[in-house]
Amino acid sequence: MKTAGGRRDFIQLEIHKLKRFLPVSQPVIGPKEIEYVTDAVKSGWVSSLGRYIEGFEQAFAAYCGTQYALAVSNGTTALHLALLAVGIKPGDEVIVPDLTFVATANAVAYTGATVVPVDIEAHSLCIDPGAISAAITPRTRAIIPVHLYGQPARMDAILALAAQHNLRVVEDAAEATGAEFNGRKVGSLGDCGIFSFYGNKIITSGEGGMLTTNSLELYEHAKLLRDHAMSPVKRYWHTHVGFNYRMTNLQAALGLAQLERIGEFLQSRRQIMQWYRDELENDRECRLNRTIEGAPSVCWMVCVEIDGLTYETRDSLLRELKAGGVDSRPYFYPVSDLPMYERADTPVAHEISPKGLNLPSYFDLTRADVTYICDALRAALVTIGLSRR
Ligand SMILES: *Cc1c(COP(=O)(O)O)cnc(C)c1O
Repeated sequence: MKTAGGRRDFIQLEIHKLKRFLPVSQPVIGPKEIEYVTDAVKSGWVSSLGRYIEGFEQAFAAYCGTQYALAVSNGTTALHLALLAVGIKPGDEVIVPDLTFVATANAVAYTGATVVPVDIEAHSLCIDPGAISAAITPRTRAIIPVHLYGQPARMDAILALAAQHNLRVVEDAAEATGAEFNGRKVGSLGDCGIFSFYGNKIITSGEGGMLTTNSLELYEHAKLLRDHAMSPVKRYWHTHVGFNYRMTNLQAALGLAQLERIGEFLQSRRQIMQWYRDELENDRECRLNRTIEGAPSVCWMVCVEIDGLTYETRDSLLRELKAGGVDSRPYFYPVSDLPMYERADTPVAHEISPKGLNLPSYFDLTRADVTYICDALRAALVTIGLSRR
């Protein structure tokens, strides 16, 4: 009897393990989100007019410490509008970090300007100011620092270079809502900032984005282009080839509810990051997120870099983790390796990209989950032959 029961327990446990799947990220939807979205639907204002749009924009500008915030359809369209607003045109060169999500480079390509990927620094994974300096030519017009995985880039050095060479700075803060550089929110430091509210970002509006700026001129130009460039005083009179890059009132309702809770979300991310540090600090082969002084990461992603990994062995590691019920993501490939962009000599980005992966870090993750994930990681490293333990 005892044996049979024990066996049943064992089988139950195995089934539990099989069913258990820890995603990399997962949105947090609570009563407030449901209340605001329901209110927006019931109001009948389901498209891009309605009180939640302005409410979200105003609350976001106040949170970021900028004069203006413009809600748009997603982070990529925010970036496209920001580049157009600062005057980027065909023939210009725009400097971007080689390690980033492809949208950073794509938005530059949409304007007809040339994407110039430069190297990152190993310490922050963000764009290396020295590499920017070396890449500036007479055609360079702008720099897009990306606050990668929630870690702010070295904005002091970047802004100094921009001032020296008369370049515009568009901060890609898609992954870093709420992060600060020397006490100031990212997105408020350059000429424009952009944010993404995709389902896996720090806050979500389903799909959505925001453009922030302190310049009335940039704000008004971006706003005009967002709405088909229709004259604000003469209906159906259009002054430029504009876009429909608007956010809906429903999205803004969700976004506003999330923004009102961002303190909770950031606190939970800090806690989860600390749990990972406690678990992995003694594992010499795993290197976790590093940070720079005065600019702590908001830990959009938990980043682990493992020496000895190649793209091939990393993919095996990801598969092993998945088999153990743990979702993970590889680091981005360097933009300059993608077929549509120019090759670039970026040794740091190329060295780090294959070694990195992102582990789960969503709101409801528990201390026990983190232990489970780290055990799974250690076991997977043994399976692929990268660890002797
Ligand atoms: C998510 C992301 C974007 C694009 O945002 P979408 O809302 O998905 O269009 C741009 N840049 C970076 C670095 C991102 O992570």
